[in-house]
Amino acid sequence: MKAKRTYVCTTCKTSKRADVAYGKDTPYRCPICHGKLFELPQNRNIPRQAENDEWQRLRIAVLKMESELIPRMKAAAQERIAKIDCQIAGLLKKTPSEERDTKIGKLRWRRREAEAEGIGPSSEIKKN
Ligand SMILES: [Zn+2]
Repeated sequence: MKAKRTYVCTTCKTSKRADVAYGKDTPYRCPICHGKLFELPQNRNIPRQAENDEWQRLRIAVLKMESELIPRMKAAAQERIAKIDCQIAGLLKKTPSEERDTKIGKLRWRRREAEAEGIGPSSEIKKN
């Protein structure tokens, strides 16, 4: 079972619980402005509609996360990718064997995982 996270639109004060996406692009949209919902990285109490001060605090927290946490996550993913590339390069220099190819296959899979984690909302490429 996947962990759940809270997604918010701090502009319209809407929230939604859904499966964790680790900052990856999701189809979740705000029912009011149809903008992307922001995935909160940890559980947090969602204020009621009328709690303007609380929403303001949450808005500031989201902006801070977008400017600090997400770039950090991306940098960590880039570092992991670089390490994996190094390991793959090392293995490619070895004599070909089934064991070697299995190892390379596993590393490539982990690399794709790291790549997916490194894609946060701000690096999203719009294709429409
Ligand atoms: Zn909205």
